[in-house]
Amino acid sequence: MGVVIKRVLVTAGPTREKIDPVRYISNYSTGMMGYEIALAAKKRGLFVTLVSGPTLLLAPKGVKFVSVESAADMRKAVLKFIKRSDCVIMTAAVADWRPKYSARRKIKKCGARSIELVENPDILAEVGRMKKKTVAVGFALETENLEKNALKKLKDKNLDIIVANRLTKNKNIFGDKTLDVVTIDRFGNRTRIFNKRKTKLAEIILDKALKFRIH
Ligand code: C5P
Repeated sequence: MGVVIKRVLVTAGPTREKIDPVRYISNYSTGMMGYEIALAAKKRGLFVTLVSGPTLLLAPKGVKFVSVESAADMRKAVLKFIKRSDCVIMTAAVADWRPKYSARRKIKKCGARSIELVENPDILAEVGRMKKKTVAVGFALETENLEKNALKKLKDKNLDIIVANRLTKNKNIFGDKTLDVVTIDRFGNRTRIFNKRKTKLAEIILDKALKFRIH
């Protein structure tokens, strides 16, 4: 059965997990990939919702932009908008952990200290469990066994397509304009893509999602 995709939900950027009012845990995600996908989808006349963690990028014009900070905020926004989306593309680098306690006042500097972390909810896995006809695309960043780990994620999270990036010493995937990726879909089709600019990659990923057929 085919799904005509009209509404796309994209997540992008990092999340920030508060330690106290002035400190947080986060990662190096720039949000570029997700913003490029949102822009490409908008240009094709799709209705786009972009749920983004803090980035330095401007939201593409004509896109419904939802700004979030933490993984908990992102989860709430995704669960709200997923119901009216035919396709979800999750590029966000959601922080895997958050401080168990976030202090209301700035913590005083007083020598070494440790922070207890708890695991954040896996938003994409939750989407994968509840989805019916929605096409779900996830991203994976791996330093080793790229395709094997990506395939496991595709299955564990019940995705339709996974886009796997290799993190290597000479490629800074967070800042570089070009990437090497492999896409794997739930029917086992693999595409290896080399040295593509994120703008072009956004088009390729979107094409694959729009053409995906849920049988
Ligand atoms: O398991 P891993 O973090 O490698 O999975 C990456 C994929 O899952 C990305 O698409 C990311 O946006 C999504 N994800 C999520 N919530 C998390 C962790 C990852 O939605 N807590």
